[in-house]
Amino acid sequence: MKRILFIISILILLLPNVFAQSRKVLSAQIATLSAKIEAINAEMNLLKEQNSNMKKEIAELQTRLSASEDEIDRLKQANEARKSVSNTSQPAPQTPATDNESHQCKATTAAGNQCSRNADPGSDYCWQHKKKYESSGTSPSGSEGNASYNGHTIQTGPRGGKYYINSKGKKVYIKR
Ligand SMILES: [Zn+2]
Repeated sequence: MKRILFIISILILLLPNVFAQSRKVLSAQIATLSAKIEAINAEMNLLKEQNSNMKKEIAELQTRLSASEDEIDRLKQANEARKSVSNTSQPAPQTPATDNESHQCKATTAAGNQCSRNADPGSDYCWQHKKKYESSGTSPSGSEGNASYNGHTIQTGPRGGKYYINSKGKKVYIKR
């Protein structure tokens, strides 16, 4: 028992030293850590200041942007106003000219030139050529070309006679 007591007493004597040493190390570590934390806090504060400055700058830029956008809108409106003014003033003399061109008679004269007369409304030709061209397009001669007699295509002979070729290959003249 004496030995054990002795050992315990030695331990009791030694332990404070061990704790003291560890305390020193710990306090040193804590000091360095707190220094680091202070440094980080300082950096944080700097960043916060910079951030607030950036926010202010952004706000300024945004106000400038909106102002310039307003100016652009004004300029656009002014430009459109000018365009509309120039559009309303210009086409007045132009539209009749283009109307004249589009409504010119499409027929060609005997000389080979385009007819100088204006076409009738709703027609490509003038009053004079309208009869000639539009009536010939639906003339009875055109429908006669497709005419048939008892299922045979009617053809016109050299003397103007109408005939068709029958099943035996012979010309059969049609009595008028
Ligand atoms: Zn004409």
